[in-house]
Amino acid sequence: MRQGSASPLNSGREKGKSKMAQDRIAFLAEDIERLKEQGLYITIHTIGSSQEAWVTVDGKRVLNFCANNYLGLANNPKMKEAAKKAIDEFGVGPAAVRSIAGTMTLHLELEKRLAEFKQVEDALSFQSGFNANLAVIPALMGREDVIFSDELNHASIIDGCRLSRAKVVRFKHRDADSLREAVEGETQYRRRLIITDGVFSMDGDIAPLDKLADIADEHGIALMTDDAHGEGVLGRGGRGIVDHFDLHGRVDIEVGTLSKAFGVMGGYVAGKRRVVQWLRQQGRPFLFSSAVTPADVAACIAAVDLLEESTELVDRLWENTRYFKAEMTNLGFDTGQSETPITPVMLGEAPLAFEFSKRLFDEGLFAMALGFPTVPRGKARIRVMLSASHSQDDLDQALGIFKKVGQDTGAI
Ligand SMILES: *Cc1c(COP(=O)(O)O)cnc(C)c1O
Repeated sequence: MRQGSASPLNSGREKGKSKMAQDRIAFLAEDIERLKEQGLYITIHTIGSSQEAWVTVDGKRVLNFCANNYLGLANNPKMKEAAKKAIDEFGVGPAAVRSIAGTMTLHLELEKRLAEFKQVEDALSFQSGFNANLAVIPALMGREDVIFSDELNHASIIDGCRLSRAKVVRFKHRDADSLREAVEGETQYRRRLIITDGVFSMDGDIAPLDKLADIADEHGIALMTDDAHGEGVLGRGGRGIVDHFDLHGRVDIEVGTLSKAFGVMGGYVAGKRRVVQWLRQQGRPFLFSSAVTPADVAACIAAVDLLEESTELVDRLWENTRYFKAEMTNLGFDTGQSETPITPVMLGEAPLAFEFSKRLFDEGLFAMALGFPTVPRGKARIRVMLSASHSQDDLDQALGIFKKVGQDTGAI
């Protein structure tokens, strides 16, 4: 039965083949063409090195101002050592989802360490920050519920809200009065939840979490923040936005990522013990998808060690940020409203921003141009991501390149 062309397996394959001859996804050709016409088709650069202050991009050695590697941990020797040791001890993969085949001691240790670091009761790790949002929002909220969401919240929050089927009421960006109005107008629901990014990645501005916490307290509404760009950046020793505003105990759910400042891969939900207990039962990405690898987890634990041992990297990140922003302002650039190491260099129209980015690259600097619809019309920019890995010399070279390209293009 198992041999020859008469086997069910083979005949199925043959049938499949003949059907493949008609192109049933021809519609995609039009969709791709439309993206290109609208200028929305992304070209993805190829990185041929580890992530550091200098990277090889499309075969060229350039200064790296593109990555979310805030603390320079993506190629940290101690973390690499920890990852290698974990591979020797635990292997390369977890081999199944945690709720079915059991969970490795390493993952539990990471969660304990993250909870201590964040000064919360408990934490649960996920495959990514994106997955953490897809887990926690639908697990807590349903059709009878309402979510108040900052209008500029991250895509993973938007998708988590959609999956929950709750009503979503968007409030104006960073506007506590707008939230208050929304909250007062929407009272007939089973449960209510306020969600905001901690740091917004396009402008580098910070959510007014203290004011949102007051509204949450007044109205008895749960409060959640996604601190992907604040983790390892804001607060004492990089403990995040809750620490920055000293709101310990007043934010019910903190989502974090291990793929930005932590330099590795993964995400987590930190907060009340009950939230984590519930997610172990009902968080779908936890229940139906395998965890990150032992090497990832061990590297993350080593990152927590580094952050707890010393604030040196976080301090250097901020020194670099202050220096770079001040010098860019001196050169005549507008660096927007950023309060964090995310530094938008405002250029106005998208064609100038894209031309600017290309010229920076020719001069040896890698930094991304952002235009409509990623950012509003007329607010096109180069987004400069600072890192503790940049040396004084790197920053000065970058400033020299910005000056030259700024003068050549008439931007300054
Ligand atoms: C980057 C980001 C994420 C996704 O994190 P990953 O770990 O890369 O999946 C989620 N939320 C916010 C606000 C982010 O900036």
